[in-house]
Formats: sequence, C-alpha cells, structure tokens
Amino acid sequence: MIRISKPAVVVAVAMMSLHVIAAVAEPSIFLTNALIAVAPLLAGLACLWRSRRQPSVLADKWRLLGIGLLIWAIGQACYTYATVVHHNVQTAALPSDFWFLVYGIFVLLAVCSVGEDQDSTAILIADSAQATLAIVLIYVTLFMNNHISQQKLPASQLTSLYLGENLALALTATVRLLAMPDGEDRYFHRAAFTFSWLMILVSTPLNYLDAFVGPTNGKAIEVAWLIPFLAVLVMAFSKEQGTKPEPMEKHRSWGAMMVYNASPVFFTMCVLLLGAHIAQHRPVVGFAAVVGALLIYTFRATILQTRLRQVQESLNDSERNLRLLNSQLHEQSLIDPLTQIANRRRFEQVLEVEWNRALRSGWPISIVMLDIDHFKSLNDRYGHLRGDECLTAVAQMLRRDLRRGGELLARYGGEEFVAVLPNVDADGAMLTAEAMRARVHQIGLENHGSPIGRLTISVGVCSVVPVAGLTREGLVDAADTALYRAKANGRNRAELSEPSAPAKPAMGRMASNVGAHLVEE
Ligand code: GH3
Ligand code: MG
Ligand code: MG
Repeated sequence: MIRISKPAVVVAVAMMSLHVIAAVAEPSIFLTNALIAVAPLLAGLACLWRSRRQPSVLADKWRLLGIGLLIWAIGQACYTYATVVHHNVQTAALPSDFWFLVYGIFVLLAVCSVGEDQDSTAILIADSAQATLAIVLIYVTLFMNNHISQQKLPASQLTSLYLGENLALALTATVRLLAMPDGEDRYFHRAAFTFSWLMILVSTPLNYLDAFVGPTNGKAIEVAWLIPFLAVLVMAFSKEQGTKPEPMEKHRSWGAMMVYNASPVFFTMCVLLLGAHIAQHRPVVGFAAVVGALLIYTFRATILQTRLRQVQESLNDSERNLRLLNSQLHEQSLIDPLTQIANRRRFEQVLEVEWNRALRSGWPISIVMLDIDHFKSLNDRYGHLRGDECLTAVAQMLRRDLRRGGELLARYGGEEFVAVLPNVDADGAMLTAEAMRARVHQIGLENHGSPIGRLTISVGVCSVVPVAGLTREGLVDAADTALYRAKANGRNRAELSEPSAPAKPAMGRMASNVGAHLVEE
C-alpha cells in the first residue's frame, strides 16, 4: 500500500491546471514552457531530498534519478530560451536536445545500479567512464553528424533518437522491476518504471506531432509533458507501507540473479548501440566508441570477478576454520574435562563399534570396571581439590596399562572408570585388571580415610564372545556386578564376573563365566 503525499498531489494538479489555463486563456509560450521546466526541476529536487533519507546504494539511485531530471529541466530551460527569446524554429539539433538526451544516461545509471557488492570506487570510475563516453557519443550524434547535407542531426531524426532512448529506459526499468523483491529498493524501481513508461506514452505522440504534424509548443496538449515528472514528484514524497520483506529465496531465484548481474550490462549495451549508430556516418568514431565501451566493460567485469574470488576465498577460509572448530568441539565433547580421558559418551560409542566388530569376527571383548576405594573419606579428609587431583592421577596411571590399539579407558562417572578391551579374553582382561590395581596400590597415594592408609581401587571384569541374543549393556552390568563383589570381598582386588545361570546354548558361547543377565530380555 502506497501512502500518497497529498501536498505533492495538490502541487501536481495545480501545476497542470496552471499550464492548461496559461495555454488556453492567454497563450504564453514562456509560461507554458517554464512550467514544463519547473516540473522536472521540482521532481529532481524531490528525488535529491528523498536520497538523503535512504541507505547508501538506494540513496545513489534516487540521487542519479534526481540529477537526470534536473538535467532535463536544464534542457527545457535552454529550449524555452531558444524559442521564446530567439524565436528559434527547430530544423536541426539544438543545445536543449543534448540535455534532453544526456538526462537519460543518469536515469539509466540509476535503474542499472545494483547492490553494495558493486559499490566501490573502481566500479564508480568504470560507470563514470561509460557515462562520459555516452555523453560524448550523444554530442557527436547531435552536432558532429557527418551527414552529407549538414553537420547537425536533422530534427526529423531526433524523434527516433528520443524514442530509442526512452524505449531503452523503459525496457530496462521493466526488467529490473520484475526481478526486484518487495521493499524500499523495489519502490524506487517502481517509480523509475512509472516514470519511464509515462515518458514514452507522453513524448512519443508529442514528438511525432511536433515533427510531422505541426508545432505543439505553447499548446494545452503540452500539459502532458508535466505528467511523468509530476508522477515522480508525488512518488518521491509518498511512502510504501506495510510491505513485509520477502523470503530470501526470491532474491536468489535464477531470474532475479540474472537480471541483477546483467543490470550493468544494459547500460553498456545502450552505449554500444549508440556507437553502432554513429558508425554509420562516422566509422572511426563509432568503432572507437564500441572498443571503448567494451574495454570499460571488461575492466568492470574484471573488478567484479576479482572481488567475487576474494569473497569466495574468504568464505572457503571461514568454512575451513568452521570445520576445524567443529571437529575440535566434537573431540572436546567426548573428553572428560577433569581427567582428560574419554568420557562416558565416548565409551558408549567405542563399545558399540567394538561390540559389533566382535559380533562379526567372533572375537572376545572384555570390560573392566574400576572404582576408587573410600573416595568419599578422601574427599572429606583432604578436600575436594585433592580428590580431583587423585582422580586425575589415577586416570593417567590407568591409561598406561592400555597400550593395544582399540583399547579405551573412560571415566564412567564420579570416581569410577571403565576400560574396553577388544579381542581380549577373560584371562587377558584379568591380567590387565590386576596390573591396574597393583599399579595404583604401588604408587601409594595417601588416603588415611582407607584402613590401609593409601589410595586403592577395586576392579570388576567381564569378558564375552558376543553372539546374537547377548547385549553390550549386559556385559557392562556383569562387570559392575564383579566390581560390587570386589568391594564386598574387601576392596583393593579384581574380580571376574561369575557364572550364575548358564546361558541358553542357542544364544552363543561365553568366553568366560558370564552370567545369564548378559542375555537379551
Ligand atoms: P567405595 O569404596 O565403596 O567405593 O566408597 P566410596 O567412598 O569411594 O564411594 P561413594 O560412592 O560413597 O563415594 C564416591 C564419592 O566420590 C562421593 C563423591 O563426592 C565423590 N566424587 C564423585 N565425583 C567427584 C569428583 O569429580 N571430584 C571429587 N573430588 N569427588 C568426586
Ligand atoms: Mg568408590
Ligand atoms: Mg563409586
């Protein structure tokens, strides 16, 4: 919904009424022509005013449109001066025609200009160079036209030139508008679209009437010239309300992207067309213009390509860093922060992998559960910090006994640890368990909370050859049961899980004396 500025509408209606009255009541070529100059002047100033309230790239667009309209006003002022003061009858191109054509360059630049990604000094230089080239070409077309009979372009040909320019503007504005998502940016392109099509609708019949039927200068019909400019005036002061930003996918649609990237090419194409047109009469100038336009375009494209590469490279860097960070984070999420050995989650993962491997290969797998004895008393007596130190020391000590590939020591929770020993049977696991227990005992960390005055561990072991029907949870439970028994039997010892009820024969053979609770329920 556009909230139309009422004062702007009042000004527009007043100006048009004034023009009609001036033309009908008391024919005054000066007043009607002056009003036609004032309309683009006001519209141009309104665009400049609006540009001050817009973010940078959008501000540039409004500014360029404003400058274009002001240039048109200059053209009209020149025209007024020529016809009113010198009573010129147009037979060939006038200075005013130069301005009337140059205005289009700025409007075209406004319509073609794109986002922040193409907003740099180098791009500005390239665009300015193209604009300058276009201005020179217009000048050459109008005043150095090497026609057989005259140097200046005959008035009859001006009409087609204007139509060509206005068509280029309108088509570019249309394509741009179609690819624009909703928002402030689209509002600008809607204004440019409205202006350029009104300009075609108004200028084409008026120019043809003027050139082929009879002078329209000073007549009421010329009020039509005001319409496109007053429309811009009203739109510059109006606002679009309640537009929700559209989903990003629409911005990224193939068509929208194509138009966005091709926008600057529209301008180059217009310059090329102008160059080709000039080449008919002045081949050297035309050829130079075409080469110049292509060189500038290549320069512009190279800058964009370079920038794209830079962005791509930095994106690649970011992605690499992100991957690294992600893998570090993943590793950290599997490590116990206090003891710096694997945590329970890692244990579960490794156990699953090793269990499945053992299931496939028919090798045994063993679990060793370890628990520090009288650890609560140690904490109570020496404090939690000392308790933490002992936990870390024991973890590092126990790790030394696991040297074979695939073996893992993890903190199971509190002061309990667990070891996974793939491809190790009950005897091997008991050897390891005993070695661990002995090592902790021999190191002799002080713990007067224990009856023997030093830090010890109790160990529970279970080993099994997995077959269908057995579960790894059962294996861990069995090791825990053995640990419980080690505690009950006096601590500082290692126990193997004892056979209770024999497993069903179909369920598989046990590598050692594994209890019935290993069997899946
Ligand atoms: P037992 O010989 O029967 O194993 O007796 P215990 O005292 O070792 O066992 P209990 O389960 O009664 O106490 C375990 C203690 O371990 C209790 C808890 O405060 C302590 N603990 C658990 N995690 C940590 C830790 O990260 N740091 C410290 N300092 N203490 C911990
Ligand atoms: Mg304990
Ligand atoms: Mg415990």
